[in-house]
Amino acid sequence: MTQLLCLDDAYLREFTATVVAVDAEASRVALDRSAFYPTGGGQAHDTGTLAWDDGGTVATVTDVRKDGDVVWHTITGAPLPAQGTRVTGTLDWERRHQLMRTHTAMHILCGVVWNEWGTLVTGSNMDPLSARMDFEFDPLPDGFKERLEQLANDAIAADHRIEVSLLGRAIALTDDDLIRTKVNLIPESVTEIRVVDIVGLDKQADGGTHVRSTREVGRLEITKLESKGKGNKRVRVAIHDA
Ligand SMILES: [Zn+2]
Repeated sequence: MTQLLCLDDAYLREFTATVVAVDAEASRVALDRSAFYPTGGGQAHDTGTLAWDDGGTVATVTDVRKDGDVVWHTITGAPLPAQGTRVTGTLDWERRHQLMRTHTAMHILCGVVWNEWGTLVTGSNMDPLSARMDFEFDPLPDGFKERLEQLANDAIAADHRIEVSLLGRAIALTDDDLIRTKVNLIPESVTEIRVVDIVGLDKQADGGTHVRSTREVGRLEITKLESKGKGNKRVRVAIHDA
């Protein structure tokens, strides 16, 4: 089992760990703890390096996947270490921080669209500093693009705090915000629900990494609106430095 350090501290960039399993065929290693975020919940994996405690060997981490409770790190540029090797992991922080800003920006969009138009997200995808979200609209309200961009940037400027907590499943199932964002679809085997709360704006069950407050996102631009069939409109966004 791998302890997911990134879920406790999204700002941890460097950590030490022990190699607990080696998969030579796939050129990947499992660690007892890791700050590398594994692909999931719409957020892409981190990249970075693993350095062996032999003083010289450094491998590049190109992919990170969770398989059950174990996080596997695909590496290139060095022979695989032996099980038991102590390593230091270092994240590509620029990429990770861009993903955090983008992920938080998407939750901001969820919140302002719900508050203004009472409409839910139907799908989304994100890359570092760009993303798309689909909403149930038919047709789009007049002036939607300008209004949405304004509301999102107002929410960023208001600098809402972002709090991450664990809620017991029974309690989570009584929370209106969590019900609306379909907390009931999380498998029943999950007894503790991780909640990401943009205080005063948006609250949902989420397994991703987020910035500490909304101002850190930067500036949000709506780059394009597309129609994806009846009742489904796609919003494309770009995130810029403030
Ligand atoms: Zn999310």
